[in-house]
Amino acid sequence: MTQVSNLPTAAELDRQVHRLYNIARRARTIAAILANPQATGDGVEYASARIPRALSAARRLLALPGVADHEETPYAVSFLTAAERQLNAPSAGLLRIAAAARRAAARADAADDDFGVVVFRDTEERCRLLVEAAVVEPVLGRRGWSARDRAASDALQQQAACWGLAKGADSARATEPSLADFAPAASAYLSQQAAARAAARTRCTAGIRCTESTCLSYGAVKVTYLVDSWLCADCIKAANTRLTAEGRAPDTVRPIPEGTPESGRYIVTLYNGTGKGARSVECSNPQRAQFIAETERPFNNTGYTIRVAAPPQD
Ligand SMILES: [Zn+2]
Repeated sequence: MTQVSNLPTAAELDRQVHRLYNIARRARTIAAILANPQATGDGVEYASARIPRALSAARRLLALPGVADHEETPYAVSFLTAAERQLNAPSAGLLRIAAAARRAAARADAADDDFGVVVFRDTEERCRLLVEAAVVEPVLGRRGWSARDRAASDALQQQAACWGLAKGADSARATEPSLADFAPAASAYLSQQAAARAAARTRCTAGIRCTESTCLSYGAVKVTYLVDSWLCADCIKAANTRLTAEGRAPDTVRPIPEGTPESGRYIVTLYNGTGKGARSVECSNPQRAQFIAETERPFNNTGYTIRVAAPPQD
């Protein structure tokens, strides 16, 4: 009978430590998602599923003879413990709430629930700001959360639990629904925002706004000749009077037949009036397009244009 040693050969041990290393490095990369203030819901879910799997794979390797004692193992383990800490940090919970709040805001928007849109967007924004504040970067003078940030995080998690935004994220807190932590000042501000949104919605039922800066009345139509303009009936008359005086044919400017369909594809381009950047939103009717143009403010100085997309070719 031959005595078979249980000890791995040096080559085997190297291979196992190398595997541990790869797992640890990968875990470190994935954990970075959970520190990114702009992480998407998909990214957070991915990281939340992958990190525990990496940790169990690492634990299996560490249980093999010799691996835990290998001189390079502590370094790999430090990546893994950092990833585990990130997974369990309040930031990860806040990012889950942010993703849930974004979905809730989209649902509220689809249901014309202005207060819902305002509240959920505000929740998302506050979560992401706190994740940003959690970054520790001593060189840049960033020391992570203050006591105030910690309190704000607790309040947000509690609030999110009340609104059903934190299912599974922090079930211990999901007990007593209470809006008491919702500061009255913030509440008044949000109510004001919601009222402004509702007012814009009412205004925009008349359709797209006339682009003549002296007019700006609602219910304008797409016209011939003045390519980027949307004009009301009065401004069409005024434009023709001006153009006739310049020697153009009368009725140069006319509503484009089928130029303002009730249901079509309206592309609202929101641009940065004082810098670079633009974002487009597609809408299915002129009322919605004008509403988006008046309520979405991705830049400090947002301007907009609305155009009708060519109907799809059959
Ligand atoms: Zn006008």
